[in-house]
Amino acid sequence: MAAAGDYYATLNIPRNASEKEIKKAYRTLARKYHPDVCKEPDAEERFKKINEAYSVLSDSQKRAQYDQMGHDTYTSASRGSYAGTGGFSGFNADFSGFGDIFDTFFGGGFGGAQQRRGPQPGADLLMKMQIALQDAVFGIERDVGIMHTEACPDCKGSGSATGNLRACPNCGGSGQMRQTVQSIFGQVVRMSTCSRCGGRGKVPDEECRSCKGTGHTRVKRTVTVHIPPGIDTGMRLRMEGYGEAGDYGAPNGDLFIEVVVLPHKRFVRHGDHLETMVDISPAQAVLGSCVEIETIDGRHVELKVPAGVQPNTLLRILGEGVRRRGKPGDLHVRVKVVIPKHLSDEEREAYSSLLSIEGHPSAPEKKGFFQDVKEKIKFS
Ligand SMILES: [Zn+2]
Ligand SMILES: [Zn+2]
Repeated sequence: MAAAGDYYATLNIPRNASEKEIKKAYRTLARKYHPDVCKEPDAEERFKKINEAYSVLSDSQKRAQYDQMGHDTYTSASRGSYAGTGGFSGFNADFSGFGDIFDTFFGGGFGGAQQRRGPQPGADLLMKMQIALQDAVFGIERDVGIMHTEACPDCKGSGSATGNLRACPNCGGSGQMRQTVQSIFGQVVRMSTCSRCGGRGKVPDEECRSCKGTGHTRVKRTVTVHIPPGIDTGMRLRMEGYGEAGDYGAPNGDLFIEVVVLPHKRFVRHGDHLETMVDISPAQAVLGSCVEIETIDGRHVELKVPAGVQPNTLLRILGEGVRRRGKPGDLHVRVKVVIPKHLSDEEREAYSSLLSIEGHPSAPEKKGFFQDVKEKIKFS
């Protein structure tokens, strides 16, 4: 059953649709609901949803993440909240503990090749976050410090002290500059982005002093990130609107948080399953036994070891793996049979009688062949 707003339902395709089918469905629907063509009142809204669904499903990495997390979790990861109010008050930047890396990627510039016209949306930010395996298993809320630009509070992002903007005198409001250059082929007209207004076509009437007319101010914020259970290394969470501020009147960029799950001392992750190890004695392996296993969150659960279990056997504890929505993974316990090196007299007696029952001769007590060899190795 598809959840409300499910991207597959939006594009009207089955969950196993191929890349081709997705593209085809998108083209058909985008043509039908394009606001310039479609006169239905909710066309624009639908067109937006179709585009949103396509942007996720057409990207194999995003699609895999979406499939794994489900619609609600995937989209709720985009929701975040600010803690504290503006400026630097009460906020301590400490990036060292997280090993977080900030990086501006795509958005904003578009490599300069594209024509820039009108207000530009803000650039996206990418941040890497390391989390413990346990937090990936259960999910966690984490506060992270980010540094980004926001609309200048003094001019509300306009860059203008009076709030008014006027047409750029350099380019006459087009945002583009015509430049005539002499070349070996004769005169060439080159179009470039206006340097005065940065392609916006408008400049502040009177420059705001706080932001020097840029309309932006750089601030540190604490953002609460909701990390859903089941997240794995390389997955990205999107916090809509938490990237860099856009031009006046344009939306902000997004903040992407790329997760790195750190290795654990006792547990290894295989998809939604966790694996750990347990030491048992030969007697436990032969006769079967009950052992206590510590789960990743420190609880103790009992595991029944069947009689005759072989070394390296994997025993399963249901539901103690990654707590993803729907069916949680299992905990796999690898059995390691440890042969004792030091025996009590009582144990020696028991093993000796076992050996004689099996009909094997016992090793000579002292100065036997092996002992001899051992001593020679020791002293050579
Ligand atoms: Zn300002
Ligand atoms: Zn201009």
